[in-house]
Amino acid sequence: MSEIFDCIIVGGGPAGLAAALYASRDRYKTVVLEKFMPGGQINNTDRIENYPGIERIDGPGLIQNMQKQAESFGAEIKTGREVEKLEKQKDGNIILSCGKENFSARVVILTPGSDYRKLGVPGEDKFRGSGVSYCGTCDAPFFRGKHVVAIGGGNTAVEETLHLVKFAQKVTMIHRREEFRASKVLVEELLAKANEPNSNLVIKYNTVAAEILGDKKVQSIQLKNVKDDSIEDYPCDGVFVFVGMVPNTGFLKGFVELTEQGFIKCDFAYLRTSVPGVFAAGDCRVGAAMQLATASGDGVVAAMMMKQYLRDPKWWNIKASDSLQSGGW
Ligand code: NAP
Repeated sequence: MSEIFDCIIVGGGPAGLAAALYASRDRYKTVVLEKFMPGGQINNTDRIENYPGIERIDGPGLIQNMQKQAESFGAEIKTGREVEKLEKQKDGNIILSCGKENFSARVVILTPGSDYRKLGVPGEDKFRGSGVSYCGTCDAPFFRGKHVVAIGGGNTAVEETLHLVKFAQKVTMIHRREEFRASKVLVEELLAKANEPNSNLVIKYNTVAAEILGDKKVQSIQLKNVKDDSIEDYPCDGVFVFVGMVPNTGFLKGFVELTEQGFIKCDFAYLRTSVPGVFAAGDCRVGAAMQLATASGDGVVAAMMMKQYLRDPKWWNIKASDSLQSGGW
């Protein structure tokens, strides 16, 4: 391992690719290490309409553009590289291990994103891939003409349910409360769909999944009404789980400080973690707004702050408030 990168970015989602664009445009030697393929969660959406300036685009399309743009300024995107361990050296550089390969960097920007939260009910793991799915955009076509249950009340649940109704013969959406967490505009669209005459969308409130049942594939779900604890055995062909995300930070335990929920601790102004030279950006960090635009913004901030640190490592210890009083960075 002879080459030392100025900047290694762990994760090739929107935060990572935005950081790569800014770092490489500043002529820093930059590489993105991505475990699978660039994009992460955003690849699962076919409808982005809240990225300022872009009226509508699908996730993979946007990621392709972001990757091309970063590469055009010299950033390298290495896929199939799962970072397993990071170590800070005495010389201040950071070693990242991916299987038998090691990489060395002056600065690391952590953008590992987040993964699907599970329900944790019996049958969920057993039927994953045999009727249980976490991605409507990916799997809806397999349920053409079938009856599926969609679970959750956030933006993902509502967007994905609106996608599922285009394929399934019937979609039953269950939510554990009476009010949706999702944006008003999406909820209005959802309720309008459910209120259409002969709609194929049914919404059940105050309802949770107790167990997913079947033989080789999902055949039914036990629904529990949280108001009266009654249980209903509800026949269906598929169960789509959209109950939020958990950060992909298991590999960082013992290297940077994490919150109890596994989010990377960092200061909100400059995204500095507990390890000098290591920044966190996007859904993985504490206080993240979990939006495409904010994840991209985080990537930009981290790459700009990297410049401050590389110019003068003592900058790492400056208080954000001191920096602002002296006219910003
Ligand atoms: P989320 O906003 O955290 O919503 C998760 C939903 O699942 C909530 O309605 C929650 O119910 C429910 N839930 C959690 N655990 C549950 C359980 N064990 N059983 C039943 N229900 C459970 O997650 P998300 O929808 O995946 O969104 C993640 C982030 O990405 C959010 O910040 C969201 O705004 C963002 N996002 C934005 C867009 C967009 O702007 N177009 C699209 C997708 C996602 P409670 O409400 O009762 O807690």
